[in-house]
Amino acid sequence: MRRINFQSELRSVFKEIGQIARKLGYSVYIVGGPVRDILLGRSFQDVDVVCVGNAVKLAKVFSRRVKGEFIYRRRYPNATVKWNNSAKVDFVSARSEVYPKNRIGLPRIRRTKDLLIDLNRRDFTVNAIAVDLNPGTFGNLYDPFNGLLDCQKKLIRVLHPNSFKEDPTRIFRAIRFSMELSFQIEENTKKLLNRDLKFLKQLSQARLWKEIKICLNDGSDVLNYLKKFGVLRVLNFSYPGQGFLERVDVGSIQFDVNPVNTLILALIEKKPARCYSFERSFIQQINYVREINNKALRNIEVVHKLFKLEDYSLLFLFARYPKNSIIIENFFDNREKLKPELNGEDIKKLGVNESPEIGKLMKRIIEGRWIGKISGRNEEVDLVERYLGGKDVSW
Ligand code: ATP
Ligand code: MG
Repeated sequence: MRRINFQSELRSVFKEIGQIARKLGYSVYIVGGPVRDILLGRSFQDVDVVCVGNAVKLAKVFSRRVKGEFIYRRRYPNATVKWNNSAKVDFVSARSEVYPKNRIGLPRIRRTKDLLIDLNRRDFTVNAIAVDLNPGTFGNLYDPFNGLLDCQKKLIRVLHPNSFKEDPTRIFRAIRFSMELSFQIEENTKKLLNRDLKFLKQLSQARLWKEIKICLNDGSDVLNYLKKFGVLRVLNFSYPGQGFLERVDVGSIQFDVNPVNTLILALIEKKPARCYSFERSFIQQINYVREINNKALRNIEVVHKLFKLEDYSLLFLFARYPKNSIIIENFFDNREKLKPELNGEDIKKLGVNESPEIGKLMKRIIEGRWIGKISGRNEEVDLVERYLGGKDVSW
């Protein structure tokens, strides 16, 4: 039996979890990410614990012991304990999963007393290894699918041929792990992945976008992988070529913007926004971005529209239309100076009736600042007074 030697800090936390479980009459193991990362000599942040018994109860007692925060999720049910600002442990009860036969959907879940059954429901061999935390057997490695060997060979391998069909989100997980860990997807697994790509189309929008966002959090390069494995093709997604991803990377650093939503804008650029169940505010951004297209950006009339854009949308325009990148860069650098000092109320007080004219005057002020004709409040007031005096205020 192979044993794992934990580094000292973790060792005492894991021993504690094992002892609490023993008192409650449960047995307990760590599984998945942390085991894989220990075997690979990588650092990790989140710990996944599987409990043969009531994981929520175990988590509750553990949270009191470490004076941590206890987060309960009723749906599964499971719980997370956070403490010391960074450490985080997810507690899940050992379970079996039975997937619906004729459609893609969530599995029927049952508690199990058998660790092997729990490992059997997992995604890849390298994630189906458990380390015993129970007193007496502490540190023992359970590796029924030869995950350790696959760690050494650097391979992502499914546990059974129906894995991707049962849960097509595993397709994203396989690609993401292969990228994050610099592993290859094992040949037969690759064939199965390819065979079952079509099931991605049956995922609910919510599950699909959740996975895409997790992938995009790894950086823009993941899109090249999703393309390579045919995922973008079956989902009818594409992204602009010719250096677009590189410009997103450069811009996200230059303007300090998280590029996840920028990349989503790119994926759905050519599709009607109503196809997706995004939040209203995001749909609005999609529409704004489409309004401000390549051509319009050269026109000063469009500058006020840039204020409606979130940073990720500005980054999209920056990367999408290289000819306009200087304008966007300018906007990022100067937008504080472009903001009018007067607001709608002030303009009303100066004597303009409540009407769309107020909005138009605000736009003229922004344009004036953009072309350097206005730099302060007095000049803004001048413009309003010129308007009230019946003069033309366009630039
Ligand atoms: P990470 O380092 O990204 O946290 P992880 O392997 O711990 O990697 P999690 O998403 O935290 O991944 O999931 C924990 C474990 O739960 C996985 O290792 C795997 O055993 C199992 N798991 C998660 N999602 C699935 C899934 N869709 N199908 C099967 N098993 C899954
Ligand atoms: Mg994890």
